[in-house]
Amino acid sequence: MDCIFCKIAAKEIPSKIVFENERIVAFEDINPQAPIHILIIPKKHIPYIAEINEEDISLVGELIFTAKKIAAEKGLTKDGFRLVFNNGKNAGQEVFHIHLHLLGGRKFGWPPG
Ligand code: AMP
Ligand code: ZN
Repeated sequence: MDCIFCKIAAKEIPSKIVFENERIVAFEDINPQAPIHILIIPKKHIPYIAEINEEDISLVGELIFTAKKIAAEKGLTKDGFRLVFNNGKNAGQEVFHIHLHLLGGRKFGWPPG
């Protein structure tokens, strides 16, 4: 399958991995939008959040739990951080393998652009 994030999960292309277990990989975003910008992905290929099933509920929960742990390790808990899933065209999704953005280290605007 020609999916860049499957290739990162399989170590077929390099990335700066910050966490990994049997189900999940987290790595630094190649084009960071904040001082800390990490992507947390399932190893399972799921193209869109809009396509998750009931069987994926704990996996998606683990993405958020992993983001929380990494945020704590990076010292982001006190000042705050942002978690984002982009889904589809209007949200600007570019990679069609679900990924949770963990952004921190600066103040973010709301509403988002
Ligand atoms: P999205 O717009 O939510 O689909 O975000 C895709 C993200 O993947 C962007 O923030 C990109 O900078 C990031 N990205 C794309 N290719 C790579 C890569 N090879 N390694 C790390 N991050 C990547
Ligand atoms: Zn994939």
